[in-house]
Amino acid sequence: MAHLQLQKVGKSYGAVEVIPGIDFEINSGEFLVLVGPSGSGKSTLLKMIAGLEETTSGKIMVDGEDITHLDPSARDLAMVFQSYALYPHMTVRDNMSFALRMRGEDPAEIDRRVKEAVVMLDLGGLENRKPGQLSGGQRQRVAMGRCVVRNPKLFLFDEPLSNLDAKLRAQTRIEIRRLHERLNATSIFVTHDQVEAMTMADRIALLKDGKLQQIGSPQDLYLRPKNTFVATFIGTPE
Ligand code: ADP
Ligand code: MG
Repeated sequence: MAHLQLQKVGKSYGAVEVIPGIDFEINSGEFLVLVGPSGSGKSTLLKMIAGLEETTSGKIMVDGEDITHLDPSARDLAMVFQSYALYPHMTVRDNMSFALRMRGEDPAEIDRRVKEAVVMLDLGGLENRKPGQLSGGQRQRVAMGRCVVRNPKLFLFDEPLSNLDAKLRAQTRIEIRRLHERLNATSIFVTHDQVEAMTMADRIALLKDGKLQQIGSPQDLYLRPKNTFVATFIGTPE
C-alpha cells in the first residue's frame, strides 16, 4: 500500500482556485521531489498535507487512513522550512528537545533521542550554543534535528536549502538524502531548482499552475517529457 495518497486534493482561496485537484501516491521509503516554478502551488500542497492549510476538496490518506481534516499535531509528520525558526534564546539541545518536552516525554528518552540526532546531524560539541553562534548550515541541521527527534515517518521539506550558498547546498542535499535513508522515512522535498530535483529524487512530480504535469523518475522526465513545459523545465541548465 502507498504510504501517502492524494485523491483529487484541491485548494481555493476564496473564489480563486490555485489547485484544481491533484492525484498521486508515494510509497513508503520513497523520496519524492515536488518541483515547479514559483507560484505553482508547491507550498500550498505541502501545507495541506501538514494540515497547516485547510484542504478545500479531495482526500489525503496516510497508510489508508483519511487525515484530510486531522489537526496538524495529530499527524505523524515533520515539516522543514527555509527559515530555520529556531528559538534564539535556547541552546541547540533545548531547541531540539522542545517539542518532546512539551509532549511530556520521559527525560531519559528525550536525552537519548537528542544525542542520537546530534550524532546523525554532526552537531557534536555545539549542544550548548545558541542559534546566533552557529553558521547557516549548522542552523539548518539543528532545524532538521528538531524534526528527527520526533521520529516521524513522513518528512516534508519546503525549499530548505534556499538560504545556503552553492557549496553548502550541494553538501546538504547529500545529508538530507542520507538522513532519509537512515530514518527509513518517506519524504517530499519541494524545490524550484531542477538540478536539485534531478540529483535528489527517486521520482519527480512537476507542477505548473496547480496542475501536475508529470510524475516519474528523473530519467523518465528527461527522456520522455509529456509536454514542452516538462521538456523545457527539466532540460534548462541551472
Ligand atoms: P509555490 O510554493 O509553488 O511558489 P504557493 O503554494 O506559495 O506556490 O502559491 C500558489 C498560489 O497560491 C499562488 O498563486 C499564490 O499567490 C496563491 N496563494 C498562496 N497563499 C495564498 C493565500 N494565503 N491567499 C491567497 N492566495 C494565496
Ligand atoms: Mg513555496
